[in-house]
Amino acid sequence: MSQFPLNNCSNCGGEVSRKMISRDFNREGTTVTIDGIRAIVCNECGEVYFEPEAAQSWLDAANALFQLSRRNRQHKGTLVGVTG
Ligand SMILES: [Zn+2]
Repeated sequence: MSQFPLNNCSNCGGEVSRKMISRDFNREGTTVTIDGIRAIVCNECGEVYFEPEAAQSWLDAANALFQLSRRNRQHKGTLVGVTG
């Protein structure tokens, strides 16, 4: 993971914006989608940086959804979770 930039992209030096994004996670044939992840996205090259304090919460959310999916043996659907 790239170093978290404060003002400028560490990849290209472009300006960055705070955004809410979605991220898909795949594990054991199951896909879960986490919405509302706080991230910083470069306006120039599109590089995505995750805020360190937010990363743990959406990882926890993804893990919870995977556990739920495994428990329900639900491998064909997409689970959608919202954090924040
Ligand atoms: Zn950039």
